[in-house]
Amino acid sequence: MVYIDFHTHNTLQTDGDIIAVNSYGTDELHTIDFENFFTVGIHPWNAGAEQLDKYLARIMDYTNNPKMIGIGEVGLDKIREPSIDIQQKVFIEQLNIAYHTQKPVTIHCVKAWDELLATKAKYSDKLLWAIHGFNGSHQLAKQLVDKGFYLSVGSSILNEQTKLQSALAHIPLNRLFLETDTSTVGIRAIYEAVSTRLDISIKNIKQQIINNFTEFYQIEPL
Ligand SMILES: [Zn+2]
Repeated sequence: MVYIDFHTHNTLQTDGDIIAVNSYGTDELHTIDFENFFTVGIHPWNAGAEQLDKYLARIMDYTNNPKMIGIGEVGLDKIREPSIDIQQKVFIEQLNIAYHTQKPVTIHCVKAWDELLATKAKYSDKLLWAIHGFNGSHQLAKQLVDKGFYLSVGSSILNEQTKLQSALAHIPLNRLFLETDTSTVGIRAIYEAVSTRLDISIKNIKQQIINNFTEFYQIEPL
């Protein structure tokens, strides 16, 4: 049974028993590996870049590729430039592409949860959303799950000091994904940590995440 890496920037991590979803930003479009699952999005940090219309058009083009399974990472980040208004505008343009092409979205969100929830409320429940790199409290996990989000957990779970340690058990298993993002820790180590923390076998976690992947993207991962 495969390990699914829900969100990674380490293209090389796709191998034998790992299926990774590679995530590309606007400066990485020339590196896209069209043989493997991928997502494309204008990151909120790049929302002030020039030629955004060109990038939006390219994202729209990629949605015709069967390996392009989602839009992301996109979102809001209040501790980084550009302003939240500019980020919000670019975010919404991409949500509209996602909505019209029926592609799920992978979200980067830092200290902008109220804005994110308000934005999500404007879209139909048919658009599926996953928060990548979730590392918040159990209260936040519960709030996001109640609003329909999937939560993807990364290498923070290896850090004993994080709030995520207690939040993890509050994420229903049918809303959980695991990812490496930019970490050099392999996806197997993240599955092992979650298996230990939740006292669930790796086999069962793998099966659950394959089911979640199939439901989220409406495709079989193999
Ligand atoms: Zn990322």
